[in-house]
Amino acid sequence: MTEPNDSGAPEKPMHFIRTIIAEDLKNNKNDGRVATRFPPEPNGFLHIGHAKSICLNFGMAAENEGGVCFMRFDDTNPSKESEEYMESIKSSVRWLGFDWEDRLTYASDYFDQLYEYAIQLIKLGKAYVCSLSAEEMREYRGTLKSPGKNSPDRDRPIEENLDLFQRMQAGEFDEGKYVLRAKIDMTSPNINMRDPVLYRVLKASHYRTGDKWCIYPMYDYTHCISDAQEGITHSLCTLEFEDHRPLYDWVLDTLQTPCHPQQIEFSRLSLNYTVTSKRMLNQLVVKKMVNGWDDPRLPTLMGMRRRGYPPAALRDFAERVGITKKENYIEMSLLETCVREALGETTPRVMGVLKPVKLIIDNFPEGQVEELEADYHPNNPEMGSRKMPFSRELYIEQDDFREDPPRKFFRLTPGREVRLRYAYIIKCESVVKDEATGEVREIHCTYDPDTKSGTGTVTRKVKGTLHWVSAPHAIQAEVRLYDRLFTKARPTADKDGADFTTFLNPESEEILEFSYLEPAIKGASPEARFQFERQGYFCVDSVDSTPEKLVFNRTVTLRDSWAKIEKAERGN
Ligand code: ATP
Ligand code: MG
Repeated sequence: MTEPNDSGAPEKPMHFIRTIIAEDLKNNKNDGRVATRFPPEPNGFLHIGHAKSICLNFGMAAENEGGVCFMRFDDTNPSKESEEYMESIKSSVRWLGFDWEDRLTYASDYFDQLYEYAIQLIKLGKAYVCSLSAEEMREYRGTLKSPGKNSPDRDRPIEENLDLFQRMQAGEFDEGKYVLRAKIDMTSPNINMRDPVLYRVLKASHYRTGDKWCIYPMYDYTHCISDAQEGITHSLCTLEFEDHRPLYDWVLDTLQTPCHPQQIEFSRLSLNYTVTSKRMLNQLVVKKMVNGWDDPRLPTLMGMRRRGYPPAALRDFAERVGITKKENYIEMSLLETCVREALGETTPRVMGVLKPVKLIIDNFPEGQVEELEADYHPNNPEMGSRKMPFSRELYIEQDDFREDPPRKFFRLTPGREVRLRYAYIIKCESVVKDEATGEVREIHCTYDPDTKSGTGTVTRKVKGTLHWVSAPHAIQAEVRLYDRLFTKARPTADKDGADFTTFLNPESEEILEFSYLEPAIKGASPEARFQFERQGYFCVDSVDSTPEKLVFNRTVTLRDSWAKIEKAERGN
């Protein structure tokens, strides 16, 4: 599917929306224009599902000459929306790498126009003011199996509708007393067409229009008209709006708007081992089951940024999951692969010991320090190199030593030789243990001075190579290890109806307060990324890290350890 084009760059894989747009351009539909929009409601923070929609909408505009994409806030419900959400959404879209230029719009920009169109619908006999209560309206609506019945107000004379609608806006009526409804068909098999509400009384102040309005338009009515106002050509949305499309078209056809965009639906992104719904994410935050919206375990854009995911990885991911109409659960491992691939070529390698144990080289002179030179990246010399102090006392990883090694343990054990990365071959001679707990306190070794990496005169094959840091030179840091947020691939779909929070992974966050890193890392700025050799990719936490006490987040491990676990569980 991915074939190189003339320029040699791989061509983007085809999907049905690309095909539709290419066809439309070929037929010079919409005068050869492509205009899309990303229309979030500012009632929460963006998550990875939104990233798919952002990449699609901005992507379709960018890859077609002259294409434009609007960033539009769907701000029609002032009681749930806020400027804090808007600012965060804008910064997340920018961080993902997209630019709306001068096309930042708000549904509230069109409130006057929407009101004029409502008057027009009333005058056309296509809308009426209804006094049924919410409960009565539900009763009258019917069900999927039975038709609805007409409201007693359905044949209210046009003049009276105009008068009541204007008085709704003038603030004469309490919330819930009246609504404006489209007059379509109470027997339609599509419930959305059974005289849907267009406007409701809402005595709420709006952060952009203040107290100008006492009525606010509903989503379905607002969305299609906003699209038409902006000259959108392809209105791309998720599948749950498929049944709303007849209403979208009815409004624009009835009003004969100068522009009639085509609504096209695609399936939502769902990811295994996490949740992608603002409502559920909100629940986790409010109940303090995670540490805020930017908790690095959350699939929010803020969380993934703090975790260290590069935006290029998310764009690549959005492309690789594809655009279809099928319900799709994507493996978390695909996202992690995209993150590893994006970080691989651009991230400096350093050494960090996460769970340290002291290692002493008894035949290395006390007080002597050797400065070893190592490149920051094995295939990218432009990233330069740094000096690493090597001395008699080091830290190595607790897991790299076993007194009684299991089979196939190729790291350090008594009597065995291993290489210290960039340095010498050492041999374990003895250990010192804590008398009370039996824990290993110190590992005593000897080194062979002729085996220095690169320049040594003696080479011997040893099975293991360990990372290390020099104890007197190392900087102490806090390292936070993150793992999947849930233990169940689909926490929201439990057959016994258990609440999704039951499946939170108690081991999704592990905090190591006493990790040791090589001194070159000193002064690393927030969000700086490193590969800790043999461990994974890490970044400096943007919230809690200080120059005095660095805090690192594990972005992703080096290899996909979960794939191995799952494979083992399947028994192959
Ligand atoms: P949620 O279901 O999490 O509350 P939403 O659909 O209510 O999300 P909006 O702010 O209305 O959130 O979404 C803005 C745009 O992002 C919409 O066009 C919506 O279709 C799209 N979008 C939201 N979630 C996903 C998803 N999981 N996959 C793809 N697109 C999504
Ligand atoms: Mg929505």
